[in-house]
Amino acid sequence: METPEIDWSKLSFGYFPTDVNVRCTFKDGKWGPIEESTSEYLNIHMAATSLHYGQECFEGLKAFRGKDDKIRVFRLEENARRIADSARGLLMEPVPEELFAEMVKRVVKANARFVPPYGSGASLYIRPLEIGITPQVGVKAATEYTFIIFVQPVGPYFKNGFKPTNICIMREYDRVAPKGTGRWKVGGNYAASIAAGQRAHDMGYSAVLYLDPKEKKYLDECGPANFIAIKNGVYITPASESILPSITNKSLMQIAADMGLKVEQRHITVDELAEVSEAAAVGTAAVASPIGEIDDIDTGKKYVIARDGQPGPVTTELYHRLQAIQNGDDPDTHGWNTLIE
Ligand SMILES: *Cc1c(COP(=O)(O)O)cnc(C)c1O
Repeated sequence: METPEIDWSKLSFGYFPTDVNVRCTFKDGKWGPIEESTSEYLNIHMAATSLHYGQECFEGLKAFRGKDDKIRVFRLEENARRIADSARGLLMEPVPEELFAEMVKRVVKANARFVPPYGSGASLYIRPLEIGITPQVGVKAATEYTFIIFVQPVGPYFKNGFKPTNICIMREYDRVAPKGTGRWKVGGNYAASIAAGQRAHDMGYSAVLYLDPKEKKYLDECGPANFIAIKNGVYITPASESILPSITNKSLMQIAADMGLKVEQRHITVDELAEVSEAAAVGTAAVASPIGEIDDIDTGKKYVIARDGQPGPVTTELYHRLQAIQNGDDPDTHGWNTLIE
């Protein structure tokens, strides 16, 4: 099929229809065959557990087209492990990792014409999700599940250049509980964060920097992204059981170590923000989104991170290095890419 007429650099992170999605259903104790569908709809029972009690988990990963025209999917084995972990967290049936990998490859291949060209800054976003479909009004786990993967092209995250944005600390909201579901990628965590996120946006901030929900003393994460900072040349990022283990953060920690930086995953207090020279929100969508200033709404304290209004040198290098691996420009020394044949 033909390459679609798309202005790749202008694509947003909304919804964009592509050719096919793939689906697989768990029923009678086993996963069925992989089905390809051209429908954008699901036909599910109104009493499905996902709709009432949030038995839903999802993933987000990307495929990139290289200079060699080959398509590479970044770290799909990590996403396979993580969605199975999220499923176990909600007592859902975990999708076997091999099934996940096979379905990702199949859906990317079937929609190859939507993988943006090399150099456009755009990529193919892959969205796997699993839902409980058993009709069940009593609160308990479903016995049937559907796993779906759809894809869509997304434009470059930084449409106006790689620039810092400001974020805020708001103690009025938590997105997760101390021993809750924060470590899993589930819809419920997002539902709990939409109001705070909207309030932050209305005040001109790009995200909320959540504190640990138990003591409100340590940094947790930045809405749907992990928080990282550079302090005296050391890469620091919160250790917390209420944050989602970001695959981007994990990759950047490895790249930082490869660059000779010391990496610390530990508690970071709010006060420590006064001593950091760089900070960023990291995740699949942006890789690294540099942070200019962090305003503590409750105390009125402002932590100015990017004093000259520019992203710091370490953040910038980490950002470029990770993208160079994803695009196939730099050697994939850690074996992170899966080539789609
Ligand atoms: C998905 C997600 C991230 C980022 O994870 P990546 O694997 O790097 O994309 C961070 N925090 C939360 C809460 C998330 O849901």
